[in-house]
Amino acid sequence: MNIKNFICLTAILVSFTLNIQSQTLKQEPLLYEFDALEPYIDAKTMEIHYSKHHATYTKNLNEALQSLPHIEKDITKIIKNISKYSIFIRNNAGGYYNHNLFWQMLSPNGGGKPKGKLLEAIEKDFGSFETFCNDFEQVATSVFGSGWVWLIYDGKKLLITSTSNQDNPLMDIAKIKGQPVLCLDVWEHAYYLKYQNNRIEYIKAFWNIVNWQTSEKLYRQYHE
Ligand code: MN
Repeated sequence: MNIKNFICLTAILVSFTLNIQSQTLKQEPLLYEFDALEPYIDAKTMEIHYSKHHATYTKNLNEALQSLPHIEKDITKIIKNISKYSIFIRNNAGGYYNHNLFWQMLSPNGGGKPKGKLLEAIEKDFGSFETFCNDFEQVATSVFGSGWVWLIYDGKKLLITSTSNQDNPLMDIAKIKGQPVLCLDVWEHAYYLKYQNNRIEYIKAFWNIVNWQTSEKLYRQYHE
């Protein structure tokens, strides 16, 4: 091989590698410290949840997608067409996407009530904010095994739904579809260290750290 061909081949390999790297899906950074949500969610749970569970979904998804080089690495597109993928990709793409969203639903400065259009819509569709909270708690409590509870907007109204495992309401396989406005992880890994089998205490603690600003922003985006 002459030097010109060698340089050319090296350039192709470098650009190929950079291209692969640029298509790696990244974990969203946490905007607060692991212990920032104490005492409602303990630091150890946050650390394991973010740097083990979510990191593993992310790694598994990236590795699985490497064997599908023709697929665009657009997580929303993948989620919306999830029936075309393996159950392994479904679980890990859901785990990757749901947790990226979930971290934004939490804030050390959270709690209270939503404002503006979201509060108006909650009051219209559930009767009152208190009724909404009760309904959300009820659905979250009744998820059997591992899953998520969601407040979604279906294009006309807000509704509460739940999904099993790492499924979500954007997936084409979801029985009830809609745009996520709020979500809560009710897998045991999200609360077991602090709350053991008392899922309801974890759900009630969530109201003290829920970041309504994220929900308001999402709702405005879908609604406008
Ligand atoms: Mn989780």
